[in-house]
Amino acid sequence: MGNARATGGAPRRFGPASPATTRIRRSSNRSSRSRLRFRLPWLPGSPTSSRRKPIVKNPERDEHLDAKGASRRKFLRTTAAGVGAAAGVPAAAEAFDFETFFQKNFRRMSDEEIEALKDRMARKYEKKFGKSFNVQATGPVDNTLFGYGLDISRCIGCRRCVDACVQENNQSRDPEIQWIRVLEFERERVVRGFELDEGNPYYEHEQAPAEGMVYLPIACQQCEDSPCTNVCPTGATWEEPDGIVVIDYDWCIGCRYCMAACPYGARHFNWAAPTIPADEVNTNIHPLGNVPRSRGVVEKCSFCIQRVRDGRYPACHEACPVGARKFGNLLDPDSEISYLLKHKRTFVLKSELATRPKFFYFYG
Ligand code: SF4
Ligand code: SF4
Repeated sequence: MGNARATGGAPRRFGPASPATTRIRRSSNRSSRSRLRFRLPWLPGSPTSSRRKPIVKNPERDEHLDAKGASRRKFLRTTAAGVGAAAGVPAAAEAFDFETFFQKNFRRMSDEEIEALKDRMARKYEKKFGKSFNVQATGPVDNTLFGYGLDISRCIGCRRCVDACVQENNQSRDPEIQWIRVLEFERERVVRGFELDEGNPYYEHEQAPAEGMVYLPIACQQCEDSPCTNVCPTGATWEEPDGIVVIDYDWCIGCRYCMAACPYGARHFNWAAPTIPADEVNTNIHPLGNVPRSRGVVEKCSFCIQRVRDGRYPACHEACPVGARKFGNLLDPDSEISYLLKHKRTFVLKSELATRPKFFYFYG
């Protein structure tokens, strides 16, 4: 995991990719058992996209959240009494924290409460890692719906994106957790049509791409109709108005309903306490993104919320040596991602499930 591109040097903003290097990295992620279908994606401005509802200031949803919040409190109260410790599930039982226990769901917090949360997080992680932390809780960007594009014809399977993601987003080094999986397929097989579970995420060649192989990186697809958020019993995960599906890790009870519901295998559970060496921890954190997680919570890609809301590219985009990754605002007709959707033959994974991903694949 020695790649420092994600956090080192001057940040790159919406520009060309860096030069290519093809040495590959090891992956420990598991393959997803799923089907790949080639269909036209839903497009911004299409009738489906106009069905999108705002999430904040919605009385119905707030009422729903109150109900979910009550069950979360009840669950935590039980686990704090011992049940959770026996089951080895929720992080809250690991080290009971009075302030965190009574903390509101992030999307119900006032500005003052968010400021208090930032202070609390900064103190907590300074104590843990012996470094000062910069906690930013930048809100959704106006008139923006973030979208990602990936050019399969360019991807060389080097897994630099995986390394950059691990470093930027404070993923556990031991045990390893990786939000991006790069699947390797035989080119011949792909031509005839293939399924996602035929992809090998564990390939170990000295260099990539290997002859006759093609690569498909996959992470959270940031679905518009996200099954994961629909099943969460505590309201710990939701879609933000700028399209990023986030998790309030202090509200996650580790029940893993979302993992079962996600058809892309994009959520990852912390079975053990994550470990991050203090000299590698990213100290620029967002509570809904790369904040260091605890044992017993589910985590996933947030499009690098701590970066993109600041006008920067995601770390994986910045690290890709061949420019296979494209990112931008789907609502901006002049953005690169809008251009791709208009002019390339893009597709989304498992379009038949109508999850309406905001992650698009295409052949350049
Ligand atoms: S890919 Fe999975 S985790 Fe991501 S939004 Fe869709 S259902 Fe949720
Ligand atoms: S997307 Fe880019 S960085 Fe990731 S494996 Fe493909 S070529 Fe490498």
